[in-house]
Formats: sequence, C-alpha cells, structure tokens
Amino acid sequence: MKFTILGSGSSGNCAYLETENSRILVDAGFSPRQIRERLATIGRTPENLSGIFITHEHADHISGLFGLAEKFRIPIYCNRETQEAIAWSLKERWNSKRDPLFNGMEKNVEDFIAKLEWRLFATGDSFELNDLLVETFPIPHDAQDPVGFLLRAPTVNIGFVTDLGHMTKLVAERVRAANVLVLESNHDIKMLQDSRRSWALKQRILGRHGHLSNVAAAEAAAQIMSAELKHLYLAHLSRECNKPEIAEHVMAEQLHHIGAKHVQLKLTSQHTPCATLEI
Ligand SMILES: [Zn+2]
Ligand SMILES: [Zn+2]
Repeated sequence: MKFTILGSGSSGNCAYLETENSRILVDAGFSPRQIRERLATIGRTPENLSGIFITHEHADHISGLFGLAEKFRIPIYCNRETQEAIAWSLKERWNSKRDPLFNGMEKNVEDFIAKLEWRLFATGDSFELNDLLVETFPIPHDAQDPVGFLLRAPTVNIGFVTDLGHMTKLVAERVRAANVLVLESNHDIKMLQDSRRSWALKQRILGRHGHLSNVAAAEAAAQIMSAELKHLYLAHLSRECNKPEIAEHVMAEQLHHIGAKHVQLKLTSQHTPCATLEI
C-alpha cells in the first residue's frame, strides 16, 4: 500500500492511495493540471484511477474533479446530497462564464453531468471497490452532507477526517480502527481571532460546523487514540491562521501527555506532496 497526501490546506485537498488493485484519490481540490503534476512527482498519472472519493462539495475538495473525471471516465464516489451540490456548482460555472472546462463542448451542462460516472452511496454505508472496503460516516461541517472515510485496505486502515466542526462520539468510534489518520488541525484560535477576517467568517470557522482548531484536534486525537494508530497527519492547516510549527507543537504535547509514543506525527502542506508512506 502506498499513500501520498498530494496537498492539504484551505485552498486545496487531495490524497492518493494505491493498493494492489486500486488507485484512488480522496478529494480532488486542485486543478487537473496540478493534480497531474503532483501525481507525476511520485511517478503516477491520473489516467488509470479507479475512483475519486469526495468528502463534500466545497471548492477546496472538488475544483479539479470535473476535468479529471470527465476526461478519463473516472468514477466519482459521493452521496446524493453532495452530488446535487456539485451539479449545482457545475451549472453555476456553466452559466456564469465560458469556463475552459467546457471548451469545444457542444453538449449542454445537463448532459455533461449525466455522463459523469457517479457512484452514489448513502452516508453511513460501506461499499467495496476492488480490494478496498470503504466505510462512510457523517461529520459536522457546513456542507450539504459531509462525510469522513475509513478505507480498509488489505494491509492498513486509513481514516480521513478533515473539515470537522467538532469531534463527535460517532466519528471517534468510526475512525478508531485507523492505523493512519488524516486529521484536520485548521487554525490557532488566537491567530484566527487576530486575523483580518470578518466577524461572520470567524464565527463560521470557530463554530460547531466549521473547522477544528489545533487544540480541538489535539483533544480529538486523545479521544480517538488506540494502540493501532501509527501515523497521524495534521491536515487542512490554514495559511493565514496557523503555522505548521504551532500545529505540530500542540499535537506533540498532547501525544506526550497521553503517552502515545507509538504515533508518528506528520505535517501536510498546501504546496508540496508529503513523502509517500508505504505499508
Ligand atoms: Zn469544507
Ligand atoms: Zn476544506
């Protein structure tokens, strides 16, 4: 199993997982060109992806989705509410301006949407894709029906909980089997409060359907902790309201405090892929 976070942060999220029989992306929040270039750094191309799993419809998770999925006929795995929200944003793009995405396209946007290979799941259900068993669960965030994933691959379980307003008992239970966990550590509360963002935006981020602060991520990690968790990625760091060293320090203190010496802590970056994890 090879796992590479191609990038994570407030302006784009995308991770690549490869097992013996599957090559998938979790979210596609960079341009198709960026995703291609980042895959190329690990010697891979988007052509033969088996699927793209979508957590929710925010632009930092889907901006490259249409370009990749349409061109290479890649199945899109999401729930119905998310599909509808994605289709709506696609129609907005179609209506507002002639987007390069639609260049040379005679067909209308409804046809474009209908021809994408949607694979819908119900939130809370599990499904199989080749050698992966994918468990889905709801997460509190301000999107239509946002989900987290636990991907059970033959050699490892990988949990995804980015974009999380607060940790719930259900989420903690669903990802406790993870050996690798991608967990949001979005902001430093003081940096956010001191930032020049509007009051409304600050309230949105801090709210129970916004994003996890560094401290909240550390508390969440303590709640989830198990002997099986070996690799913990801090994801979705805010560029303006966080610093990698602060996020790392807060989590490292927590891991030390709870005696979780078996966990390797890793930072993700918006701009460069993480080193590939092979298990
Ligand atoms: Zn989001
Ligand atoms: Zn996001």
